[in-house]
Amino acid sequence: RRKSLEAYAARPAVTADGTRVELAANIGTAAEAGAAAAQGADGVGLYRTEFLFMNSPSMPGEEEQYRAYLEAAKLMEGRPVIIRTMDIGGDKELPYLQLPKEVNPFLGYRAIRIGLSRKELLLTQLRAVLRASAYSKVKVMFPMISGLQEWRQAKEILAEAQAELRQEGVPFDENMEVGIMVEIPSTAVMAGQFAREVDFFSIGTNDLVQYTLAVDRMNEHVAYLYDYFHPAVLQLIRTVIEASHSAGKWTGMCGGMAGDPLAAPLLLGLGLDEWSMEAGRLSPLKEVLAGLDRQECRELAERVLLLDTPQAVRQALEEFRESKS
Ligand code: PEP
Ligand code: MG
Repeated sequence: RRKSLEAYAARPAVTADGTRVELAANIGTAAEAGAAAAQGADGVGLYRTEFLFMNSPSMPGEEEQYRAYLEAAKLMEGRPVIIRTMDIGGDKELPYLQLPKEVNPFLGYRAIRIGLSRKELLLTQLRAVLRASAYSKVKVMFPMISGLQEWRQAKEILAEAQAELRQEGVPFDENMEVGIMVEIPSTAVMAGQFAREVDFFSIGTNDLVQYTLAVDRMNEHVAYLYDYFHPAVLQLIRTVIEASHSAGKWTGMCGGMAGDPLAAPLLLGLGLDEWSMEAGRLSPLKEVLAGLDRQECRELAERVLLLDTPQAVRQALEEFRESKS
């Protein structure tokens, strides 16, 4: 079994009916892209850049960021790397930013909210990403977007960074893809409006579950309620994927659900385009996908989306899994 799993690292992910599935890795540092490439990732679906900031005693400058982004991209040897702008706040602190103490940090000053109010931070990061785009295939996405206005403001700051670089004669990819994370229910509900403007979506189930179900993702006392198989979460996921496809865009998933083999048939059936997970989960996922038929999974998804509790969903998925073994 171990041997056969290792063999999957060298192969692309393909389902039993021959559908090629894009499997990417989540990384927290540029160096981790090496492990992702070794595990046969098709790209990096989520580069959590906040660790670059958290591992530094002071704010990393544009040059340092540029070098980190380029290093990650080089290690992926031409495969795309999605760089998420920093997601500080919530449970992630940054001493030199001196963030306010908050009663509800997960509902507070976090991620893109910081980037939009302290514009020089986001501008510097976007300049670094753009510079890396001249030499490698990078994409950028914004975390914790809750409405169109935030997305448009972030795009404006991106346009500013582009204008500056153009003026300075610094090269960058004019066609770099720009997307958003879908991790707040309001954005999932409004996916149709977003889909006209963004290049792609990446669903962050870790936060999407927390905010949809009002269950703190870190609180063990309510952990029994924290479940991405909750029917409300599944409906939001379907809404996002369908909205993106209607507009000719694509949807990935970089939250923990993407790496769960039990969820794989459901997500395949819903039409998810890209799956991003910890590198160690790639081979087990490829093994599961290799046994799945897409049409059969579509029918499974239709049935599962009608169920009314997370327990019923899990049971249906477990029964499906057993029917395959
Ligand atoms: C998520 O919320 O699902 C996600 C991928 O982002 P993070 O876990 O970094 O909050
Ligand atoms: Mg998140």
